[in-house]
Amino acid sequence: MKVGKVLSDFIIYYGIIFLYGIVIGSFLNVCIFRIPEEISIVTERSHCFNCNTKLKWYELIPIFSYIFLLGRCRTCKERISIQYPIVEALNGFLYVLVFYLFGWKSLAVILLNVVYCLMLSALIVLSFIDFKTNIIPAGVNIFIMIMGLSAALIKYFNSGRSTDVILNHAIGFVAVSGFMLLIYYATRGRGIGGGDIKLMAGAGLLLGWGYVLLAFLIGCILAGIIHPIRMRIRNLGRTLAFGPYLSVGIAISMLFGDNIIDWYLQTFFI
Ligand SMILES: [Zn+2]
Repeated sequence: MKVGKVLSDFIIYYGIIFLYGIVIGSFLNVCIFRIPEEISIVTERSHCFNCNTKLKWYELIPIFSYIFLLGRCRTCKERISIQYPIVEALNGFLYVLVFYLFGWKSLAVILLNVVYCLMLSALIVLSFIDFKTNIIPAGVNIFIMIMGLSAALIKYFNSGRSTDVILNHAIGFVAVSGFMLLIYYATRGRGIGGGDIKLMAGAGLLLGWGYVLLAFLIGCILAGIIHPIRMRIRNLGRTLAFGPYLSVGIAISMLFGDNIIDWYLQTFFI
C-alpha cells in the first residue's frame, strides 16, 4: 500500500514535470524556426511549411501529434521534421533530470531548478540555431544573462547574503569570457565569435567560476573530438559552430559538475 502510494506520487510528480517540459519544448521548436527568419514567436499561428495549412489544436500536442500523424502533414502528406519530437522529448527529459538530481527540499532549491530548466531550454534553442546558421541570436544570450543573474541572486539570498557567493559568480562572469575576449582580439575576431563570448559570460554568472571553467574544458574536448570527424564526413570548412559544444559542456557541468569535481579530487589528490 505504502510502496504503491510512493510510486504513484513519484510518477505523478515527474509526469507533471515532463508535461511542462514537452509543452515548453514545442515552444522551443517555434523559436528555433522563427528567430533566424525574424518572424514573431508569439503572434502567428503554426502552419505546415509546405501547404501553409494552419494547424488544428490536436496537431499541436507535443510528441503525440507526431506519432499519430506518423510524421506527415494531415493535409499535404509532406514529411514533418523529426526535430519537433526530438526537441520536445529532450526538453521534457532534461526537466525531469534536473528535479531528479536536485530534489525539491526547499523553496530556494525549487526556484534554482526552474532557472536551470529554463537555462537548458535556452541552450537547446541556441545549439540548434548556431548549428544551422553559425549565429547565436542576441536575444537568447540576453535570456541566458537573466538566468545567470537569477541563479546568482537565489544562491546569494539562500546563503544568508554571503559576499563569497557574489564574488564566485562575478568571477565566473569574466573567468572564461575574458580569456575568450583575449583570443578574439589576438586573432582579430577570426578565432572565436562574439556570441560564444557572451554565452560563456552568462553561463559563468549562473555556474560560478569553477564550474564555468569545467564547462569550457568539456566544450573544448567535445569540439576537439567531434568537429574533425564532422569536417571529414561532411566536407565542412574550417568554420566551427562552437555554441552547441559549449552548451553541452555547460549542461554537463551544471548537472554533474559536483560528481566530476569530486571524482577528479579523489582520483588525483587523495
Ligand atoms: Zn502540409
